[in-house]
Amino acid sequence: MKCPFCNAADTRVIDSRPTEDNSSIRRRRQCENCGKRFTTYEKPETTPLMIIKKDNSREVYDRLKIEKGIIHSCHKRPVSSAQIMEMTDAVETALFNREEREIPSTVIGEMVMEQLKDRDPVAYVRFASVYREFKDVNTFMAELTKLLEHSEKS
Ligand SMILES: [Zn+2]
Repeated sequence: MKCPFCNAADTRVIDSRPTEDNSSIRRRRQCENCGKRFTTYEKPETTPLMIIKKDNSREVYDRLKIEKGIIHSCHKRPVSSAQIMEMTDAVETALFNREEREIPSTVIGEMVMEQLKDRDPVAYVRFASVYREFKDVNTFMAELTKLLEHSEKS
């Protein structure tokens, strides 16, 4: 951290404590060159994760949308709320672990499908049919057949 008085590069932290509301860290620093003291505040990175929608517009990432999509697909299926949370968490963690701060909604869709595929085939097909916007019954059947073949093998 550069000294604001003399621009020297070497300053050291002499005191470090959280602010009253705990939203940031307050640091007292002293310049090694001119000896003057100054304060800095350190905040966690708050750059929001942006989602690129199909029409190329952006919206701020919203966990609730993933959760709602999963809940909707699991309607009346033997999937517990805890399992829904688990799947949502898994998708969210994977998203936040990516380097990009902008992620296409299609990537999220694929991640949710991966989660549902192993959990409940009906929920998976439901989600996929909405998400992939199956144009007709044939595409839907093709996906279903693929899924059934997959589950017979495993
Ligand atoms: Zn200085």
